[in-house]
Amino acid sequence: MRPKRSDKEKIFLWIFFPSVIILYLVYKFPTLFVPASQISEIFYFFGKSPSFWYATIYTAIVCYFSLKIIVLGTNPYRTSVKKPISTYQRAKFSSIFLSQLIVFYLIPFIIPALQEGREFFNDPYYAVNKDAYVYVYNGFTSIGGLIYIFFIVPILAWLVGKRYCSWFCACGNLSESVGVSKWGQQWVKNYTPRSKIALKFEWLQFVILIFALLYGLVLFLDAWQIFTSTTLITAMYNFQVFAIDFMFGAIIGIGAYPLLGTRIWCRYGCPLAQLMKLFGKFSLSQAKIKANSKCRGIGECSRVCPMGIDVKSFAYFNKKPIEGIYGLSQTPCISCGSCISACPTQALEFKTIFSKKDIDIRDNFK
Ligand code: SF4
Ligand code: SF4
Ligand code: SF4
Repeated sequence: MRPKRSDKEKIFLWIFFPSVIILYLVYKFPTLFVPASQISEIFYFFGKSPSFWYATIYTAIVCYFSLKIIVLGTNPYRTSVKKPISTYQRAKFSSIFLSQLIVFYLIPFIIPALQEGREFFNDPYYAVNKDAYVYVYNGFTSIGGLIYIFFIVPILAWLVGKRYCSWFCACGNLSESVGVSKWGQQWVKNYTPRSKIALKFEWLQFVILIFALLYGLVLFLDAWQIFTSTTLITAMYNFQVFAIDFMFGAIIGIGAYPLLGTRIWCRYGCPLAQLMKLFGKFSLSQAKIKANSKCRGIGECSRVCPMGIDVKSFAYFNKKPIEGIYGLSQTPCISCGSCISACPTQALEFKTIFSKKDIDIRDNFK
């Protein structure tokens, strides 16, 4: 049974849910509230755009929680006992801190204004990018995107699995760092969907990948003017803007943290994650986790997994430890290492790459 939420958490949630909806409406659809000509006058605080303030709050949250983990040096996934943080987790949270601060904040929001020598607190007006959540389409619209999506990502997926999601991606940075906060840990443990039905819904991510690829293809064809209609592009763009970017990516992806855990978008929505999973699965990715014979079947690994993976089923069967190995062939694992850090018996470890053929040991027990 789920533990009750504290009064403080309940008050927070009463403020959080409406705030998320209002914030994203204002941020992404300011013309619903004021004419375009007045956006900078009304919604630019101290001369800075909503994007700047959004990125500032976002980065502050990520950096605060990740730095706290690094400085305290205690294992955030085993709160019942005080254990030192592992080298892997320290490196992961350092990468989260640095990538968020440098790549997703200083480079896009601070350095350009300083370099151009313009007044810092006087942003020019620019529309918010609403394609970020389906950025797989960049593979069709730029050479850099093509190299990134169809060459770099497959190689990374083969070599290190979906570690990109737990070490670097801006969305993942928020999920990982909020996921180790006091309430975030409870949201991951108690609210991440883990039933068989919840697993089945993961096909939704495949549908969004297909949409993102089609969207990219239509933009590509439009650029070459071979065949396409502006109505089709407009229809796809509008669907993307409202259904994927606003409703799924923003409102559900972040607003539903307290209700469904911190990785709903990453598990059911993100087309890049689905692409990485497919690349990893068909190239027999070398990034895997291996169970040894120390498992006692406590199931803490499954409880802390933010992706809803039944980790225990790879380590324990019929009241006995089994030495299962799993990676992208069987699961959407993002290599966050929470299950490894949470296990009290050190029954799980990352498999050294190139070590052994991929075997799902559970097949032997079916
Ligand atoms: S699943 Fe997608 S959004 Fe989530 S961390 Fe990975 S790349 Fe980022
Ligand atoms: S792997 Fe560790 S946490 Fe998971 S069931 Fe076994 S002993 Fe428990
Ligand atoms: S299986 Fe372990 S490493 Fe993979 S996503 Fe779940 S907790 Fe993270």
